[in-house]
Amino acid sequence: MELDKMDENDWKYHGEGNKSLVVSHLQHCRVLRLLKFPSEDSAHTRQTAEQAFRHIPNIVDYSKYVMKPLLGEKYVHSGEVVKLPLDFVRQLSLKVQQERPELRCDKVMDTFSGCGLCLPNLTQLPLHHLRDHRPPICVEIKPKCGFLPFSRNITKECKRKVCRFCMHQHYKATNGKWKRLSRYCPLDLFSGSKQRMYVALKNLLEEPQNNLKIFKGGELIFSCKDDAKQQLELNDLIQHLRPYFPHSNGLYNGHQPGKAVLNEFIQVICSALLSGGDSNRSGEPRKVHLSESKPHCEASPFPRDLLRNGNHGLPKDSVLAKILQVQMLDNLDIEGIYPLYKRVEQYLEEFPRERNRLQIDGPYNESFMDTVKNCPAEDDGSVEYAVGKVHQYRVAMTAKDCSIMITFAPCEENEEHQLNLEKPRFTYSVSILDLDPKPYEGIPHQHKLDTKIVNYYLRSTQAPP
Ligand code: ATP
Ligand code: MG
Ligand code: ZN
Ligand code: MG
Repeated sequence: MELDKMDENDWKYHGEGNKSLVVSHLQHCRVLRLLKFPSEDSAHTRQTAEQAFRHIPNIVDYSKYVMKPLLGEKYVHSGEVVKLPLDFVRQLSLKVQQERPELRCDKVMDTFSGCGLCLPNLTQLPLHHLRDHRPPICVEIKPKCGFLPFSRNITKECKRKVCRFCMHQHYKATNGKWKRLSRYCPLDLFSGSKQRMYVALKNLLEEPQNNLKIFKGGELIFSCKDDAKQQLELNDLIQHLRPYFPHSNGLYNGHQPGKAVLNEFIQVICSALLSGGDSNRSGEPRKVHLSESKPHCEASPFPRDLLRNGNHGLPKDSVLAKILQVQMLDNLDIEGIYPLYKRVEQYLEEFPRERNRLQIDGPYNESFMDTVKNCPAEDDGSVEYAVGKVHQYRVAMTAKDCSIMITFAPCEENEEHQLNLEKPRFTYSVSILDLDPKPYEGIPHQHKLDTKIVNYYLRSTQAPP
């Protein structure tokens, strides 16, 4: 990519989240990730440009020095900072504007800093040779928090029984964010039990919200729709998937053949989630049990009487085990973190210059990572302990908000030595994306939000006295 010859016609709108907008290159397997700002902020152009200038390199460092060592080399692509011509960015912003979903247009793309992030396009498989006519399928899952908090600091008993995602659904429904409740429960996905994972993925397909997206050949083919058209869309998805699972078409003698296709599709996602990251490894991996807390959520629709079928655990190097392990760095819960945050704040009020030494706003380098890794287990009353726990909490928050990308494509068709003709064979890769640092200043908001969500949940599920 020659940065002085950037042409907006080589790029197209790919997608966006709350913080960034992504465009993909028409020929190369690359994307550009650009920051977004609330539209009222864009008046203060110089300030926002400076913010982006600092923030983009921070994102790369955080990914490289903090998240990558924790989550594993093979899953994380940190990307590189690129300096883009302002003219290119402005043209690009105009070009993508009409493609943007309305509900995201409360923010505008940063066209001031000329700073972006260049990443591999994870919806594609770079080594997928085009001998097969079927382009890669990519499943993006935003799994959210996969364990029940076990901290002594928790004051509301329901937090030990019902997971944050399931409680949050009630809050979102009341506040009009989504019209229908999702039946997905992260604890089922992270359970390591094929049965429970199957149910979790099925529920994601039925109500994807912003937790599931599916791409084919790099194009989005399935994601949230905030109306009742979902059933129709699930049938569309089946039509897209049919050529990838040719054997399942005949399986049910034309009796609900779509079901068999979806079934096989879910199996492929499950194997990828439980694998060591790519399809070239085999053998039964060692299982780990990460959580000391209750392994299931009382709000999950998974049948209670089937829960007894074994205590599963996740394969040690699987993407789910890696993410869960980092999420669990939050071992005090926001209720335990908030007082420590206040300890840090009080200290900084007295010694404002210490903010840099304590790396409150970065830099996110090896020394930051040392603080995260070597934080003492017991509170000695020091500001160092408080800062260590706050850093750990923020790292865990990133892992609770990341996405998993599973991209797969059929292996070369029916090679003669391939005996097992019943099962479709795929080559796949698994990555983790969206690993931005979560702001230190966000902690008071997290504390309030936690109280709100719990209170809403209690109010909406308990009958009035
Ligand atoms: P969130 O609101 O979840 O925090 P965000 O604003 O931080 O999102 P991302 O999740 O990084 O933004 O990117 C938005 C979307 O762009 C993703 O959901 C994904 O579909 C797509 N995307 C991001 N990075 C890549 C990549 N490297 N390859 C392919 N697609 C990508
Ligand atoms: Mg995201
Ligand atoms: Zn749940
Ligand atoms: Mg994000």
